[in-house]
Amino acid sequence: MTDDAQGTGNPAVVLVAARHPGNIGATARAMKTMGLTRLMLVTPAHFPHAEASARASGASDILAGAEVFPDLGAALADIDWVVGTTARSREISLPVRSPDQAARELADQAGSGRLGALVFGRESHGLRNDELDRCDRLVHIPTAPDYSSLNLAHAVQILVYEVHRVSAAATPSQGPREVPAGGRVLEDLFRHWERVVQDVAFMDPQNPERTFRRFRRLILRAAPTEGEVRFLRGFLSAIDKRIHGPRHRSATGKQKPEEGGGES
Ligand code: SAH
Repeated sequence: MTDDAQGTGNPAVVLVAARHPGNIGATARAMKTMGLTRLMLVTPAHFPHAEASARASGASDILAGAEVFPDLGAALADIDWVVGTTARSREISLPVRSPDQAARELADQAGSGRLGALVFGRESHGLRNDELDRCDRLVHIPTAPDYSSLNLAHAVQILVYEVHRVSAAATPSQGPREVPAGGRVLEDLFRHWERVVQDVAFMDPQNPERTFRRFRRLILRAAPTEGEVRFLRGFLSAIDKRIHGPRHRSATGKQKPEEGGGES
């Protein structure tokens, strides 16, 4: 891992299945102009490639340091806060942020020592649903209504510019702030929540996914902190106990819920 990703807290840039090597080179250049260094490539069609090197121009060091992965999950293994990018202004399952908001949230996460990543999709059809599911947030660059699909490297340039602008404008730290909980903590909450929804039969048995998705969307919109997630897990555990008796153990087991529900 580069010093940048860990040291200054700048997010990594992840290109998923980029088809044109020129876009990879132009991405490296866009990153370097804005002070970002960690480039991850998930199954690039051609890499390394002369066209990528030519388009990177003075950013050949970023290309040389690029990490290549067999799938998005492998690339995100050490990432705590994942921001997916989409050419569509509405996606079904996740809150969609403006570039400025997304950059601020990334800076907040970095301020708490969490590694972030900006994930970009295929030139042909963007990110798949299973890849969108890996994201904590989505970001959309506002465009003219009748054509919203930017060139991949142009989209990278705009978003890394926002990251740079926000970090350059950052005031000195005002002490630790509570930031929204990231993916793994929320995944555990969702699993627990869905189990309780099933236990109390609060769903359409024909389509439980629809109920789960509504809760998921609502919780994501609320952007709970880790303390608030513990509070919700404590509440779910109280329901568990009422239904299954006091000896019932919380099922995901990873996180000890806060019994009694003290809000933090
Ligand atoms: N036809 C594709 C667009 C792919 S453009 C689709 O419908 O999704 C290739 C990539 O560039 C996208 O996956 C996204 O990462 C980025 N991109 C393009 N336009 C964007 C926009 N308006 N906002 C955010 N990212 C965008």
